Amino acid sequence: MQNIFLTSDSKDKENYKKIISETAKAISEAFTDDKAYSGPTPDQLKSLIAQESILPEKGLGWEKVFESTKEKILPNLIRTPSSDYMAHLHGPSLVENIAAELIISTFNQSMDSWDQSPVATEIEIEVTKHLCKLYGYDEKSDGVFTSGGSQSNQTAIILARDAFCNEILNYDVKKNGLNEKCSKLRMYTSEISHFSMEKSAHILGLGYKSVVKVPVDSRKKMDVKALKELIQKDKAEGNIPFLIVATVGTTDFGSIDPIEELAAIAKENHMWLHADAAYGSGVIMSNKYSNRVSALNLCDSITVDFHKMFLMTISCSAVLVKNAQHFNALTIHADYLNREEDEEDGYSNLVDKSLQTTRRFDALKVWISFQTRGKDGWSELINTSMENAQYLYKQLNEDSDFEVITEPEISSVVFRYKGSSSDIAKMDEINKKVRRSLIHEHGIVIGQTISDGKTCLKFTLLNPTISHKKLDELKALIKKLAEDNLQ
Ligand SMILES: *Cc1c(COP(=O)(O)O)cnc(C)c1O
Repeated sequence: MQNIFLTSDSKDKENYKKIISETAKAISEAFTDDKAYSGPTPDQLKSLIAQESILPEKGLGWEKVFESTKEKILPNLIRTPSSDYMAHLHGPSLVENIAAELIISTFNQSMDSWDQSPVATEIEIEVTKHLCKLYGYDEKSDGVFTSGGSQSNQTAIILARDAFCNEILNYDVKKNGLNEKCSKLRMYTSEISHFSMEKSAHILGLGYKSVVKVPVDSRKKMDVKALKELIQKDKAEGNIPFLIVATVGTTDFGSIDPIEELAAIAKENHMWLHADAAYGSGVIMSNKYSNRVSALNLCDSITVDFHKMFLMTISCSAVLVKNAQHFNALTIHADYLNREEDEEDGYSNLVDKSLQTTRRFDALKVWISFQTRGKDGWSELINTSMENAQYLYKQLNEDSDFEVITEPEISSVVFRYKGSSSDIAKMDEINKKVRRSLIHEHGIVIGQTISDGKTCLKFTLLNPTISHKKLDELKALIKKLAEDNLQ
């Protein structure tokens, strides 16, 4: 059989090169203008792509399928590198990262056992070691790549729960499952932390009730005094506080919880401190602002997302753990995969640390992009996006038609158009309409959220190619659309 894989056969090589180069050409041609989105509504897209069957009796062949993909799909994909795209913590991908993806997909290594990914396993171990150092951990630490921040958080919460039960309650959850006492376990996180906390608590059998939401202050940071009171109150009621999750860069506002103070509280109460730095982890690369996250080394575990501020392709994330031994919670041996003797012989099977079994070689992307750009290149990328947020904040703050929710600590700006009206519900509608019309009429995608019950708009400025001029133009456009809608 030919033309099904890339092999050493010259015809297979030609076919591979042809398909990959045609694809690269079509992708670059899909960037017809600077807009982020071509505009279709959900119904328009549904009718465009509807098929009688996606499994024809007889295969159509690559050329034909590629033609229809070029025609129907490529033009309508969100063009994440566009400077008109700033809705979510979802950015464009660095070009060298896309090259890394081609290597990753072509060789298709799987990170569960050494014999499925020899050099890839060694690279992940090496990259993880350097990441631990970057965030200020010593050689007792370790980490593993995951599918994203949600899985990194979930992994950390499992390790925290098992460590606490083993060490403080003298109870082995891994072996015995949850007991009566476990139903009293409580974790503390801010009221605007990511929903992966509740999801994880559910999956872990602790339930939403185990997640205690701590109020935030006017800068959207966890209120430390309230946290202390909640812990004391829970203890008095017989509950068992085991974990504090600091959000280092909240999803909406980019606000950073006070890590040092939380570390002291965690220590005093024998609790684990996890940092959900899915967003803020990128700040470590800045030569000007890294001190905003330099206390991360006080945490017992850290979630780092590379597919957010680090501008890498989805998915790419890691969870770092201060004391590598805690990963034992996830180790379980299978005769066919990760035998105990492998480790003794110097063969690492990374499945021992992971919730996943088959797993992508995402560490290659960090290996390549870190070395390609170096400290100076990275610093410039991160500084630019953070300074864009500071610039936009200033412009909006000086304009009485806008209300800015809080000064950005990273690269997100949340605000609302308020005009001269005091009718909150009416202005909520205006802000919603502005966002819709930006998407469908202007190909511009910005975010929308709620703060203190009011509908807000959000710029998530991950893309460092966004200029001040662009931000000025967008601000003016939003104002115009809001005014048009008011009439
Ligand atoms: C994005 C985000 C997550 C979830 O990460 P995924 O990579 O999307 O799974 C978790 N926490 C915070 C604070 C985030 O911003």
